[in-house]
Amino acid sequence: MKNKIFTLFVLLLSILCVSNIQAQSETTYQLPDVDAIRPSDDSITIDQLIEELPESASIDNPLLFLVNRDNLLEYDPYIPFVYSENGQPYHEAMAAPLAEMRAAAAEVGYYYNFISGYRSIAEQAFNYESRFNSYLYEGYSEADAQYMTDQYVAPSNSSEHTTGLAVDLLGAEFGYELYVSYQYEPSAQWLAENAHHYGFILRYLEGKTDITKINFEPWHFRYVGVEHAEFIHKHGLVLEEYIALIQERDNRQKLNQN
Ligand SMILES: [Zn+2]
Repeated sequence: MKNKIFTLFVLLLSILCVSNIQAQSETTYQLPDVDAIRPSDDSITIDQLIEELPESASIDNPLLFLVNRDNLLEYDPYIPFVYSENGQPYHEAMAAPLAEMRAAAAEVGYYYNFISGYRSIAEQAFNYESRFNSYLYEGYSEADAQYMTDQYVAPSNSSEHTTGLAVDLLGAEFGYELYVSYQYEPSAQWLAENAHHYGFILRYLEGKTDITKINFEPWHFRYVGVEHAEFIHKHGLVLEEYIALIQERDNRQKLNQN
């Protein structure tokens, strides 16, 4: 009898342990190597960065949802939508911070056109095809057209816009066409320098295209929440690097526990 109770106890304990391990991280990502992380101040070590990570930084945080060429969407995620002044849907989580950021910009004379918010996988596929076809039409070979399309348009199930947490903003004075030269506009510079106070990061940085696999986009901002945006901005990171740091911290903690 005692033996049976003991067996039951062990069984129960092992079930608890397994469910505990599963609860630790439900999200798995394909991430850059920790050694590939490059903070803007290169005297800061990875250990220091990990030490400084906000406690709330978690791989499972839905605001840190990572979508890129290495982490594809299988389906359109559920998103509670709100709509921009020109009818573009986006995630309600960034409605208030976006309004606050635009109001602060307006106070210093900058106004923005809301170019693009949420895009479904099907809409992104259409965008990709259209851009590819327009290069073919201009006379480029299929290989060249694909290469050029890949520089700016994410393949259908790898667009961050499908999270609803990304927004393309252009200064009203600049219009509606996405040109990299937008980076020199004071309105672009104001956003690049201030967006983190409102929880947004400039997502595709110059000099990090080897990691993001998307060219520098001075108009594309991603909402991650203030605490994370402050850290990411302060250290000149991209989201892939930030999540790789979180994962490294978690891995080290697991090693310490064992
Ligand atoms: Zn964008």
